[in-house]
Amino acid sequence: MTQNGLNRWIQEWYEQNETDLRAYMHDVWSHPEVGLNNEHAARVSWQFAKTHGFPDAKLVRAGEGLKETEHPNAVVAEYGTGSPKVAIVGELDALPGLGNENVPYRAEIKGPGHGCGHNLIAGSCMGAACALRYAMEKEGVKGTLRMVEAPGEEVGRGKAKLAEDGVFSDLDLAMMWHPGPDEFTTEPQYAMVMNAGTFDFYGKTSHAYANPWDGRSALDAVQLMNMGCEFLREHVTKDCFFHYQILDGGQAPNIVPDHASVKYFCRSASVDGAADLYRRVMKCAEGAATMTETEVKRTDLFIIPYFFINKPLCAHMNAVARKVPEVEYTNEEIQFARELTKNLTGKDIEDVRELLPFQKEEYDPDPTHHVKTATDMADVSYYCPTVHIHGGGCVRKAHAHHWAITVCAGSTIGEKYAERAGKVLAEGALEAFQDPEVVKQCWEAFKEQNIPTHEELYKDLHFED
Ligand SMILES: [Zn+2]
Ligand SMILES: [Zn+2]
Repeated sequence: MTQNGLNRWIQEWYEQNETDLRAYMHDVWSHPEVGLNNEHAARVSWQFAKTHGFPDAKLVRAGEGLKETEHPNAVVAEYGTGSPKVAIVGELDALPGLGNENVPYRAEIKGPGHGCGHNLIAGSCMGAACALRYAMEKEGVKGTLRMVEAPGEEVGRGKAKLAEDGVFSDLDLAMMWHPGPDEFTTEPQYAMVMNAGTFDFYGKTSHAYANPWDGRSALDAVQLMNMGCEFLREHVTKDCFFHYQILDGGQAPNIVPDHASVKYFCRSASVDGAADLYRRVMKCAEGAATMTETEVKRTDLFIIPYFFINKPLCAHMNAVARKVPEVEYTNEEIQFARELTKNLTGKDIEDVRELLPFQKEEYDPDPTHHVKTATDMADVSYYCPTVHIHGGGCVRKAHAHHWAITVCAGSTIGEKYAERAGKVLAEGALEAFQDPEVVKQCWEAFKEQNIPTHEELYKDLHFED
């Protein structure tokens, strides 16, 4: 059972700043931005940080060396000096096409939406960092706290670009939380590796009725590539998944298109598995180009590398999480969750524990039991012991990348859990500052893994924005 072992200053900060923090999360939710272009979110994050304990917070664009910039998309702020150095990490970006009104049913707002709940991640990070800074000052705690609000997680590049700026190079620990329909847990999770790329086909245009024999259709090539990949699906190992999106399928049915393109995300449980899957997808592209007498150009977009799990850090955060009080939802919030769930599933569920996720009671340290999606937080795990805490903040029947997550992320259901997650992050970091054993044990496990450097990982890879 959870009990209240939360540091009093962290608690006090949340009591005094809850209204501001919720307004900040809702502001990010109300201005959803995709890819690496989350400028509004970065600006309001910077404002919040500056007025809540980080007067020197930097508003930057990831990958540009932490300089002043015209189109910022990230915030880096720091408090304290010396060791240990602990980073709390947030995310700012939304997803295309998942905009929704703040109601428990589908009421589309045209455009992007926070269908992965990153505005809540931003809030958990911001609250944690500000509350921890306050507690560090009150208690005279030594060490360096770094807050990193990162862009573009959904396009796989945000944290890799911040890594180029040296934001993670000197850290002792890094931590973040991601909302989700599962119970809140700090258990080690086996994240997927991903290779992403775009395939552009170039053919010859012609009238689709008058002289199609003169044309060489780039769209045919895309379709044949996709068809080849559908057959490939049967002959890959069970940990392999791939999905595609046609970016350009031509301009009109009566014009044989001389250009068409398709984007692929290839996931596997291992680095070699994802690379081999990507290689086989390329074969389908080459085959399609041969069949249609078109040419294909491949553009590598990004990788999500292997996530090195740090079991002592997961265990430390687990012990902390159990001391942080559980969220209490009002009857109104429970009814909202019930209505949303009914609209998603057709089932009327009364039991609040079936409706909403809370702290997971048992703790299973075997990461292979918890295979999760790919995340660019994996990039950080090459620098220091890193934890990606997961779950809570939305109804249990919703899944990520869905308008129902947008709804929850814009409601107090999500905001309340982001606050609890922030308290766990703040308390976990505070205890790591106060007890040198935490960092020591995490680093012993980190060193045993013989993790390559981030530079080695990326040395032969080249990506275009
Ligand atoms: Zn996502
Ligand atoms: Zn996400």
